[in-house]
Amino acid sequence: MLFYSTRGEEKVTGAQAIVEGIARDGGLFVPSVFPQVSKEELERMFGMDYPERAAFILHKYLDEYDEEELLAALRKAYAQFEGGDAAPLVRVENGMYMLELFHGPTCAFKDMALTVLPYLLRKGCDICGIKEQVLILVATSGDTGKAALEGFKDADGIKIMVFYPDDGVSKMQKLQMCTQEGSNVNVVAVKGNFDDCQTGVKKIFTSEACAERLLAKGYRLSSANSINFGRLAPQICYYFSAYCDLVTSDQIKPGDKVNFTVPTGNFGNILAGYYAKQMGLPVGTLVCASNTNNVLTDFFARGTYDSKRPFYKTMSPSMDILVSSNLERLVFELSGRDAALTKERMASLAATGRYSVRAEELQKMRAEFFAAYASENDTVDCIYEFFEEYGYPMDTHTGVAMHVAQRYEEQLKKEDSKAELPPMVVVSTASPYKFPQAVYYALTGNDVKDSFKGIKRINLLTAMKVPESLKAIRYKPILFKQSVTPDKMFDEVEKFIG
Ligand SMILES: *Cc1c(COP(=O)(O)O)cnc(C)c1O
Repeated sequence: MLFYSTRGEEKVTGAQAIVEGIARDGGLFVPSVFPQVSKEELERMFGMDYPERAAFILHKYLDEYDEEELLAALRKAYAQFEGGDAAPLVRVENGMYMLELFHGPTCAFKDMALTVLPYLLRKGCDICGIKEQVLILVATSGDTGKAALEGFKDADGIKIMVFYPDDGVSKMQKLQMCTQEGSNVNVVAVKGNFDDCQTGVKKIFTSEACAERLLAKGYRLSSANSINFGRLAPQICYYFSAYCDLVTSDQIKPGDKVNFTVPTGNFGNILAGYYAKQMGLPVGTLVCASNTNNVLTDFFARGTYDSKRPFYKTMSPSMDILVSSNLERLVFELSGRDAALTKERMASLAATGRYSVRAEELQKMRAEFFAAYASENDTVDCIYEFFEEYGYPMDTHTGVAMHVAQRYEEQLKKEDSKAELPPMVVVSTASPYKFPQAVYYALTGNDVKDSFKGIKRINLLTAMKVPESLKAIRYKPILFKQSVTPDKMFDEVEKFIG
């Protein structure tokens, strides 16, 4: 299968799309067509386990990868998940289901893709005939950095370096990163905020001088961020898997529609749901849930994306985003795959912070998506009430999603009180133990000073199992302590590769 840039003429293979990450014109790579999954194929997937389902879907996009080898890589990746199933579906009440994507090594859904990306990237280099070692640079505001480190640790032919803002990540996130093991990893704090970090990494990526100096040492730069098709593709699979699980547990009949609610930041997760629907999965509405940084809610309401607004630090930090980069792929589809128009809009976004879509595009968007947001209070109340009612603890990001899912269903009921609502799958993106202080506050109204105390108290209250990876951190040595100013970031890169 070929991939096109959302902004121009570039055509590449799947392996190239993953190795290059972003198109030369700044656009994102999208598949030339959406491969279809027939009714018969979907039925065949019912009897498969998670890695088999994922291999089947991924191979439809990445046909130059060997399917057997792909399956072996997926088995190995998802064997690191606790509990035996990488993406279990939990029924909490009649018609409401949680798709738990947080059983991986870092307790957030980014593990679903970042445990697989190292294989896709290394193999992609082989397919493209690239001989150099790969150096992955990541600027992180928390979850991505740790998930990338875990995914890439000890990967052959790859080194990974993560920069995080000194004062911009939670204590638990910092501990997770600074205790990282592996022979090919490096973690450096940057004196500044996330923007300083990201700007520093972008500078290295776009500097020809840096690229030459790295190449002279046998390294080629690559990125693991969420616009890489290698991050998007593994996420499509769990929408199919959730659907299969609903059928095999007799909750629905094959062909019935299912709605999904997704806590959204960069629009990567929910876009994967849209891709699944384009491939033929019977998806009804995709509900886009935001926190107080509700730029997407406004976009779906008015058709104008306006990132010029105040930035709020919320208790769901992985959704604190004003420029949702994966939205470009949706805008490209809605425009009828008009690359020139998409390019114009993205230029407008870069220059003025905003762009608008046409009335008929807005209409199309609103036929597929429902968008709303949860305030901080809404989130706290929802986590509390849901635990009181069902005994099910949620993390803060999932709390945002659940609040919005409930509002959506209330609205449908108001419009037609007798309507049979399709099942709702709420995508649960993090373990409550990953954000222990905020979750403990939501559950009890009390503060707890220390993350590990928070974990202990949540465990006493909920009896939910504490993930081994979080328990272990407490006793791990801090391996990374260096902290640099933004102008010294490339020096650290050179020191690292020697
Ligand atoms: C990254 C993240 C999100 C947002 O996902 P997007 O793909 O950026 O929309 C939501 N919840 C958690 C816990 C995350 O780590």
